[in-house]
Amino acid sequence: MGLRSLILILGILLVIHLVRRAYRQLHPPGNEKPSKKVDTVRCDACGMYLPKSEAFERHGKHYCCKAHREKGRSRKG
Ligand SMILES: [Zn+2]
Repeated sequence: MGLRSLILILGILLVIHLVRRAYRQLHPPGNEKPSKKVDTVRCDACGMYLPKSEAFERHGKHYCCKAHREKGRSRKG
């Protein structure tokens, strides 16, 4: 085996290493699909389902918007 083929092999290994490193930067291992189960609640005024984080809560009931929350307030309570 001559020096040229040794350099060639080292060059190929270097290229493979660089490609794999670049691939890992583009696809980080901890970055999997963020499909967490979202808690949904139902608007007490119109019945629409929405994520709990976006709901307006009042006295343990959830509403899709401020208007419906105000609407719910006018009822008993
Ligand atoms: Zn509503």
